[in-house]
Amino acid sequence: MIHVVHHPDYVTAAPARSNYRWGKNGAIRDLLARMGDGVAWHAPDAIGRRWLEEVHDPDYVEQVLSAAVPRDKERRIGFPVTPVVAQRAQMVPGGTWLAANLALAHGFAANTAGGSHHALAETGAGYCVFNDLAVAAVRLVEEGTTPRVLIVDVDVHQGDGTAALTAGHPGIATYSIHAERNFPVRKARSTLDVPLADGIGDDAYLETLHDTLVPLLDGFRPTLILYQGGVDPFADDRLGRLALSEEGLIRRDRAVAGWAKARGVPVVSTVGGGYGDDVMAIAARHVRVITTLAEALA
Ligand SMILES: [Zn+2]
Repeated sequence: MIHVVHHPDYVTAAPARSNYRWGKNGAIRDLLARMGDGVAWHAPDAIGRRWLEEVHDPDYVEQVLSAAVPRDKERRIGFPVTPVVAQRAQMVPGGTWLAANLALAHGFAANTAGGSHHALAETGAGYCVFNDLAVAAVRLVEEGTTPRVLIVDVDVHQGDGTAALTAGHPGIATYSIHAERNFPVRKARSTLDVPLADGIGDDAYLETLHDTLVPLLDGFRPTLILYQGGVDPFADDRLGRLALSEEGLIRRDRAVAGWAKARGVPVVSTVGGGYGDDVMAIAARHVRVITTLAEALA
């Protein structure tokens, strides 16, 4: 049984002037629903404003919650922040936080949205409004739910917002393995960054992942891994620059889950990037991340 966090608010119609492809979260839900009793569904509450303000500037939080984000910030985000988008932005961090609690109880749980790693203190960016990873990690540590959270970001783009928002927090470490020449142009500093050259394939990727992540796991000794499981390192991704195969993505997720399991560390996953015209194929890749992790951590 896989514990999955989902909320109807995750699935919204595309706002006007949006260049982000909406509908992915609904497709992920539908694919997981086909698993019937194999999935235990959980619905989150919207995260409290104070936890958003722990990592984001209160003025920016107010702009989002009142759907009054200035146009220049909306351009950085990639879509307008309507009241519906604002509601979703508050629900998704609640989902990541709830999924983390479920992972601590069961070994693994997944949020069907989230991974909004580009959101910064004073603005969203790159299709991200609030940084659910940073918000959830800070709340988990500050409330004493778990002492050490390692955010493992395997999205093809650097987790710049997450790194910036959690920098210096004693209970939180960040790891990002990404295509060096990809967005964002100006990188932040994670606890450990692993920039990759364009076009890297499965074997070189997995070797690098092993050689960099395993020492960090043994040094930081996390009590929870928060996994941003972006599928945009896939070879045919519209915004990726790497060349992982479908099998390579599975090997990636199985490897991380195996290292976590060997150390007794629970894993919570969010989705992340995945871009292209075939929404169902991308949703299927996201679902495969969830089922691969669940299987390896069972
Ligand atoms: Zn990405």
